[in-house]
Amino acid sequence: MHQPPQQFASDNYAGICPEAWASLEAARHGHAQAYGEDVWTSRASDLLREIFETDCEVFFTFNGTAANSLALASLCHSYHSILCSQVAHVETDECGAPEFFSNGTKILLLPTAAGKIHRESIQPAVLRRSDIHFPKPRVLSLTQATETGTVYTVDELRGLTERAHRFGLNVHMDGARFANAAATLGRPPREFTWEAGVDVLCFGGTKMGLPVGEAVVFFRKSLAEEFAYRCKQAGQLASKMRFLAAPWVGMLENGAWLRHAAHANAMADRLYQGLRDLAAVQVLYPREANSVFVDLPPAIASALRARGWRFYNFIGDSGCRFMCAWDTEPATVDRLLADFHSVTSG
Ligand SMILES: *Cc1c(COP(=O)(O)O)cnc(C)c1O
Repeated sequence: MHQPPQQFASDNYAGICPEAWASLEAARHGHAQAYGEDVWTSRASDLLREIFETDCEVFFTFNGTAANSLALASLCHSYHSILCSQVAHVETDECGAPEFFSNGTKILLLPTAAGKIHRESIQPAVLRRSDIHFPKPRVLSLTQATETGTVYTVDELRGLTERAHRFGLNVHMDGARFANAAATLGRPPREFTWEAGVDVLCFGGTKMGLPVGEAVVFFRKSLAEEFAYRCKQAGQLASKMRFLAAPWVGMLENGAWLRHAAHANAMADRLYQGLRDLAAVQVLYPREANSVFVDLPPAIASALRARGWRFYNFIGDSGCRFMCAWDTEPATVDRLLADFHSVTSG
């Protein structure tokens, strides 16, 4: 079949990386116990426990919306509220699923700079109201890497979770691009998860090169109580679970997840460096993960689209997002840069 050209719309445009494919292929044969009682699921869970160097509880879901929504629902009651950034995926791109699965928990938005919440914004949000008429804050949700491609440092995370815990909030991390953040931070993953106060991580598999699937990792195991029932009720318990779990094994076994994420980050940096020299466009945020955001005059955006490029308008009318994936080729970045030059030099 004709293979369409690589695009920068999203990292979920990319295919399956070789390591994930190889373990999926290996899992294809024979019979295995259903509903997660198979060897692939236990191996994938053990690998996650090895990577995080702790005895965490692991569940696999089909997508990120389910992972986030079910994880958040397990951290609060319906009369609670969840604090998150105003650009958080759970707020802007999940069709109300976090509220739905928690039976009405309200999402409260915190001010955001370059995708990040600042630790000083938590206390005023929690103390603003303490009466019975207001939904009680119970969760802080952070996205790592953020929706605008920045990465919280270990110190920033510690500052945020310390304040959250001080006010009795549980900390959820939307890690749809956790691998990209991990490659950037270059530290043992425990340092920017449970050691830094994260209670539950939704570790994104899809965007890092798996066919499908996310892992919900409970570092505070008591929060995982009855989580399996939530997954089942929400239609997220795969009966042939081995096919959701097997790709994780290939991805995690020999560090492929970090290698692929580092490559995606490097491709974004190649694009970032090329665009910074271009006077006609303004790069919007520091490049810290696998995306580049550019303020593009509409005429330039249309000219690029007319040349076949796909990318999302992400921030306001003119803020466009260019996202790199595990398989983005340097030549694809260079072709895009060449087109940027020709459409801006007219
Ligand atoms: C892609 C993404 C998700 C998950 O999206 P699904 O389409 O539900 O898999 C969650 N959070 C962020 C920040 C994302 O970019």
